[in-house]
Amino acid sequence: MDEQKTMDFHHKAYVCIDVFENRKPVLLVSRPDADWCFLCGEEHPDDASYYRVVGIGHILEKDPSLKEVMDLQPDEEAERSSPDSSWVRTNLSGPTQ
Ligand SMILES: [Zn+2]
Repeated sequence: MDEQKTMDFHHKAYVCIDVFENRKPVLLVSRPDADWCFLCGEEHPDDASYYRVVGIGHILEKDPSLKEVMDLQPDEEAERSSPDSSWVRTNLSGPTQ
């Protein structure tokens, strides 16, 4: 087993309010500044009231398909169009040259 699989259950992760309240599935996982964000993929105002901090283990327990992207690196994101679709990864930092 690699290190990601043994990540602390209570490791901090951000979710949008839709995911937090089980209104929408996680369709976007991003790692700005190496944080973990699990979002519904829709636009939200840049306001803390639209986000919640939870233990990452709770999110993975609720949606085991998210384990596929637990090897995501900082400044990468993974997006899917539905919970049954495969993840499409993007590097947010872009080419360095
Ligand atoms: Zn949302």
